[in-house]
Amino acid sequence: MSIQSVEPHRHRVVVIGSGFGGLFGTQALKKADADITMIARTTHHLFQPLLYQVATGILSVGDIAPATRLVLRKQKNAQVLLGEVETIDLENQTVTSRLLERVTVTPFDSLIVAAGAGQSYFGNDQFAEFAPGMKTIDDALELRGRILGAFEQAELSDDPAERARLLTFVVVGAGPTGVELAGQIAELSRRTLDGAFRKIDPREARVVLLDGAPAVLPVYGGKLSRKAAETLEKLGVEIQLDAMVTDVDNDGLIIREKDGTLRRIESQCKVWSAGVQASPLGKQLAEQSGGETDRAGRVMVNPDLSLPGHPNVFVIGDMMSLDKLPGLAQVAMQGGKYAAKQIKASLDGKSPSERVPFKYFDKGSMATISRFSAVAKVGKLEISGFIGWVAWLAIHLLYLVGFRSRASTLLSWAVTFFGRGRAQMASTEQQVFARNAMGELEKKNKEATESGSTSNGEAKKAAGKQQKAAG
Ligand SMILES: Cc1cc2nc3c(=O)[nH]c(=O)nc-3n(C[C@H](O)[C@H](O)[C@H](O)COP(=O)(O)OP(=O)(O)OC[C@H]3O[C@@H](n4cnc5c(N)ncnc54)[C@H](O)[C@@H]3O)c2cc1C
Repeated sequence: MSIQSVEPHRHRVVVIGSGFGGLFGTQALKKADADITMIARTTHHLFQPLLYQVATGILSVGDIAPATRLVLRKQKNAQVLLGEVETIDLENQTVTSRLLERVTVTPFDSLIVAAGAGQSYFGNDQFAEFAPGMKTIDDALELRGRILGAFEQAELSDDPAERARLLTFVVVGAGPTGVELAGQIAELSRRTLDGAFRKIDPREARVVLLDGAPAVLPVYGGKLSRKAAETLEKLGVEIQLDAMVTDVDNDGLIIREKDGTLRRIESQCKVWSAGVQASPLGKQLAEQSGGETDRAGRVMVNPDLSLPGHPNVFVIGDMMSLDKLPGLAQVAMQGGKYAAKQIKASLDGKSPSERVPFKYFDKGSMATISRFSAVAKVGKLEISGFIGWVAWLAIHLLYLVGFRSRASTLLSWAVTFFGRGRAQMASTEQQVFARNAMGELEKKNKEATESGSTSNGEAKKAAGKQQKAAG
């Protein structure tokens, strides 16, 4: 175990997470008289809103995931540590993280927790084996492999029923991610892959967008929801609403209709984009502080985003619950900057009681449906179609981190939107199978450890090797 220095020191800020909240919080502390340690379980900052474009072959991983260490290279008061945070000790003010077998304890004077949220299967975690979520680069690459792999298998099959199953793509959840993904799978099959196979016609692929709610993009409401549904239908996406998924297996899913009847869709490739669950670190924080979490595991924070009873600990972004603020990048970015400001104020001798509550500035939200078509809502202003798409393009370019990412993304978009091509159509076997294989391995190691046949260290070493092998 390594313990970070406890010598006389400047104020120490630990930031957990390198996502929108963590990165913007760290950058806002650039001029602070403090040492900042960002701890994250990935080496990159991930622009999640464009993950679906990695999954559908438009963008490369590098376009949306710059290395955090390089982004922060010039910020001399910040260091980056790779590791999974396992424990936050509020009393002793330490964060314990692990990288394979190496355990690191990092003391803090102020803490910003921005560990985000994972996919929620609403208590049915067994669905994950057959319907991966869309939260990480691994998810997006696995999905790319599954989508393209389904077309390849269909080309090899002579059985019409099997072909139909292989060419049926089901996206569960008609929020922005589900809508964007369904739209892009449809465009991939109808434009990019058109004419590329000899036995199958990829344009005949069935793309189904399912939701238990009665509307597509319900948060946008009325006109924009209808507009999104119309555009998707024109693209050939089949929309099924008021449809609850009750079971998922390798070959399909079971759906319960509003009237209680059950039906089955045969489908090889399913994607889950239906719910979120905040990082389990939220529960730890609530338990230690006597605070509470909401149903999605988000920590209920004070109006200054601090943890009850801990004015030096801020919980931000997808992990925090305050005034029903949505899980959006802007909420996390503004939360990170706000927390940094409060830390700087306390370094200037200001008391927490002087803090002005966090106020979210709503810059609007948007979703693309297909090339040249998006819906956007900014305050009362509702935009759709081509103008919405141009706004979407400009805003996404603006918030991508780094000039290189912007330039290469713009080039990839030109190739895809003005032509038919997609530059990122490669996928590997490991991308498709590693997640479940690693899950199996971890399960076996756990059983072996519990029965005493393998030492804990050996089990973790094996899992570590497997993890390395999976890239
Ligand atoms: C597919 C998708 C599409 C989206 N589209 C949009 C959109 O169009 N517009 C929009 O505004 N928002 C969108 N969002 C939501 C937006 O991305 C989130 O609201 C935002 O990322 C939240 O920021 P965050 O900092 O709270 O968490 P994240 O950005 O998720 O960052 C969490 C960080 O914590 C790290 N981490 C987690 N657990 C640990 C641990 N135990 N130890 C160490 N590190 C840990 C992660 O590796 C990551 O670096 C989308 C999200 C997804 C998944």
